[in-house]
Amino acid sequence: MRVLAAGLTDKGLIRPHNEDALLVEPPNGVFAVADGMGGHAAGEVASNLAIEAIGESLRERGRELELSVPELLLQAVEEANQRIAKRMEERPECRGMGTTVVVAVVNGAQFWVAHVGDSRAYLLRDGSLRQITTDHSFVNELVRLGMLSREQAARDPRRNVVTRALGSGTVVVPDIQQELLLAGDLVLLCSDGLNTMLGDKRISDLLAAPSKTLEEICERLVAAANEAGGEDNITVVVLQARVEDGEAEATRPQ
Ligand code: CA
Repeated sequence: MRVLAAGLTDKGLIRPHNEDALLVEPPNGVFAVADGMGGHAAGEVASNLAIEAIGESLRERGRELELSVPELLLQAVEEANQRIAKRMEERPECRGMGTTVVVAVVNGAQFWVAHVGDSRAYLLRDGSLRQITTDHSFVNELVRLGMLSREQAARDPRRNVVTRALGSGTVVVPDIQQELLLAGDLVLLCSDGLNTMLGDKRISDLLAAPSKTLEEICERLVAAANEAGGEDNITVVVLQARVEDGEAEATRPQ
């Protein structure tokens, strides 16, 4: 199985800075999106620190074969969390900064997704889109309690309030999911600047539309979010598994 990937980040039309960051490393099977928060461009610092720490941690520890992928992901996310906390101690102007993160690690016909906050992972398989992650957000808690519909949550003014983030100063535990990766599947990682501007149906249509390259899909998603208002920074990472010649595909779930 060979993994192809592309990523794109855009400031959007309203925000003065881009506080999102991304990681696209097909040879290592590591992909991530982080969405920073905090005044005076500190959000940018937090998201970049997280991406750096997670990339380094997974690259180094990838050689420690005795650790499982979920253990590696836990360590990588905690490393990012601690690096952000340390920077806040050193630089008072960074106090209060934080970031979300969604990380995907691909290994053969399987992949794992770890996330903290409201950056998302979606899976498009056979034309149907499924959100893999569950937002750690205030409005999602209200959806869970039956007090808001998903549609209302997407437009609610409190939709940016996350209930879990890196940089809080305490240990942060990500949610980790394991999924099967089949030939033709498209996996999308994104910051909320995409999914607050576009509903799931629109995201699904844009992913599924014919395209020559994954770069083209990324450009199309970002352009659509900007056409819908571009109210926030927009970041997308799209990956796809292709079966090599003569290779058997993983068994499809019934
Ligand atoms: Ca955002």
